[in-house]
Amino acid sequence: MTVQSFLQRGAKRASFEADKLQRTLKVQNTIGSLRTQIRGKVTHLGETALRLYRQGALVEEELKAIGQAIEALEAHIAEKETELAQIKAETFPEEEPLSAGQPGMGSRVCPNCGQAIPVEMRFCIHCGAPLPPSSEGQS
Ligand SMILES: [Zn+2]
Repeated sequence: MTVQSFLQRGAKRASFEADKLQRTLKVQNTIGSLRTQIRGKVTHLGETALRLYRQGALVEEELKAIGQAIEALEAHIAEKETELAQIKAETFPEEEPLSAGQPGMGSRVCPNCGQAIPVEMRFCIHCGAPLPPSSEGQS
């Protein structure tokens, strides 16, 4: 086999494989499309059976059981939709106003009214009395 015929054969093989792949994808696509159509018909079949079930016209026990299962699922959805509405109605809790009365660091007592106030305040937040600079600031 010459180099040229070897290369020609390689090119033909590549062309053959590309064509094969293209035809494979096309047929697979058609099969997928047909399966989609079947799913659509199955859905339609189910919807028809469900309508008959709701009209009380469905006699097959097996199909009636599916109708009951669908109604149970619908009831579950209704519950979850109520839960969803409640969650959506929740609001972030408003912050409590800063309490100066909390014990611990950063508070002291107003010499005028005796209420606890943050240590950095220059005036009492309760009575408005001017406050001396805190001893913490002085040290
Ligand atoms: Zn005060």
